[in-house]
Amino acid sequence: MEIRTIDAVPLRRELDERFANAQKWITHREYCLVRIETADGAVGWGECWGPIAGTRELIEERIAPLLRGRDPTAVESIHEDLVFDLRSAYHSTVPAGAVSGVDLALWDLRGKAAGTAVATLLGGKRRESVPAYATGHFWPPADDFDAVRESVVAEARSHVDAGFDALKLKIGLERHFGWGPEYDLELVRSVREAVGDDVTLMADANHAYDLPAARRVADGLGAVDAAFFEEPLSPDRIDAWARLNLGSPVPIAGGECWAFAPEFRRAANAGAADVLQPDVTSAGGLTSARRAAEIGDAAGVATYPHVFGSAVALAASLQLIATLPGSPRLEFDRTPNPIREELAVDPIRNDGTDVPVPDGPGLGIEIDRATLDRFRTDR
Ligand SMILES: [Mg+2]
Repeated sequence: MEIRTIDAVPLRRELDERFANAQKWITHREYCLVRIETADGAVGWGECWGPIAGTRELIEERIAPLLRGRDPTAVESIHEDLVFDLRSAYHSTVPAGAVSGVDLALWDLRGKAAGTAVATLLGGKRRESVPAYATGHFWPPADDFDAVRESVVAEARSHVDAGFDALKLKIGLERHFGWGPEYDLELVRSVREAVGDDVTLMADANHAYDLPAARRVADGLGAVDAAFFEEPLSPDRIDAWARLNLGSPVPIAGGECWAFAPEFRRAANAGAADVLQPDVTSAGGLTSARRAAEIGDAAGVATYPHVFGSAVALAASLQLIATLPGSPRLEFDRTPNPIREELAVDPIRNDGTDVPVPDGPGLGIEIDRATLDRFRTDR
């Protein structure tokens, strides 16, 4: 079995309505997928975090020549070789999204070659289905706080009505709206009142705060019994994360902005977070996300992977989560996203709180070719 072609496949869709988190307005969804085909016609799919620009050229011009002719089942040695090559080429910046997309496609191929689900190759499933939590609760354009609160509370109720028993809220309104942390806490309290005490609540600040503000917010989240406080601070300030985590009444969570094992090891050693959240499309694929989870487990820290991608990211994350120790949940993005919803022939859906882990070979999904062509920007 040898790799014959490596293609970057750019997908994009504009969204009907824009929405915001603490850092940015989201107006569209775009993904650079990776398609790797072997000489005997097997195909593996991966997905890269981030914009298409740059990633696509890297894969087609730099990575593809390195991989042609290699055995795709040697996933971890290819991963190491790729990181080594890109580090020497791009110095301190290894383009983690590109490595991740290639890594996922190789795991998909390896599973297909073995006729087994990737979860089996990662050590085997610990569970047949994974409880999910609803991610959403982004903010609409609005002039007053009550309009934002009304929108978020209505959305929270809709997820609970759909069967979710755990919700992740967005906080950090100040950058877009000028409303400080007291408004963030008011928003969380409003949702708690609306959905009751039996629903698990989490809050994600997308690194909106400095340390004093994060401490105030952590105390407020403790008062509503939040399950974790995600990305309170800029992801490069590991020491400040550790100081916050030490005194926080709620566990600090983070990792979607960290990549490769050494970065997760630094965070775990510092005590920066009690929940690690590697994203398979940005942390260095399943290879590095699994290593992050192992580092976390050895440090007594939980791993709840970050998931905010297309159908490929969702499928790959589910395979990983099925194998993790503890009681991980699947982050289930409930924002409108046709690329996530329509790209797989048999999409991974959530009709309650638990999502079955597909048993099919590889990542367990089949890409719908007609849908793929519809979303491609290069056709
Ligand atoms: Mg987040």
